[in-house]
Amino acid sequence: RLRGAAMSASGRPTLRLLALYPEQMNIYADRGNMIFLARRCEWRGIGFEHVAAGLGEGFDPGAHDLIYIGGGQDRDQRRVAEDMLRAKREGVAAALADGASLLAVCGGYQLLGHSYQLGDERIAGLGLADLETVREDGPRLIGNVAIEVDLGSGPRTLAGFENHGGRTHLGPGAHPLGRVITGRGNNGRDGYEGVRDGRMIGTYLHGPLLPKNAWLADHLIAQAIARREGAEPQLQPLDDSLEAAAHESARRAAGR
Ligand code: GLN
Repeated sequence: RLRGAAMSASGRPTLRLLALYPEQMNIYADRGNMIFLARRCEWRGIGFEHVAAGLGEGFDPGAHDLIYIGGGQDRDQRRVAEDMLRAKREGVAAALADGASLLAVCGGYQLLGHSYQLGDERIAGLGLADLETVREDGPRLIGNVAIEVDLGSGPRTLAGFENHGGRTHLGPGAHPLGRVITGRGNNGRDGYEGVRDGRMIGTYLHGPLLPKNAWLADHLIAQAIARREGAEPQLQPLDDSLEAAAHESARRAAGR
């Protein structure tokens, strides 16, 4: 049985989502990832609570099971980075230490690291993942991507789209989320994509990341609910024919 904090007023297991900067950090409708989570919860009778924390706003680190931050243009990242360090870092670190999950996409992913360097300018990140991003000369890394990921239940494919000027390099303390099958990934050179540390995931794959990869959405839902229950729930299977078609088409686009 789920303990109090993950139950909504109606007594149902509930996914409590915190969105960081949904106004600024939302390229390619990354926000759709949250709608997808909400629907999959709703279809299964799982409660869904959604709170946003924008510029200057704090949050209660114990009140959220999944933290989400989307992608952003360089100028949006500049706008949020300082606020993130000042008003969010402590809360995000405390939530992670308390077993919350985090999904960060592209610009949000870059801000998990130590810094994002653009020529002489250095945007300081949260430093929660051992990685650095550098805006090098040369073309943006743009296109369809497929990566192989193992989140504990065997190898799976994540398919999606990337568009970033920054090249991310993982430090010795960081593990990649996956191995690039096609596409460019973190920097177009080392064959890695994203970062994964416990329940923290960062990736360059944009919205609709979750609609194209429903298995990852379900992984996040199960993990968020297990945070209070202690064991992952058996999620009710859904009719995923549209989701499977979206996944196949994203894989085909990536040449897989
Ligand atoms: N502004 C960052 C870059 O260009 C991230 C871009 C994004 O979120 N799509 O590298």
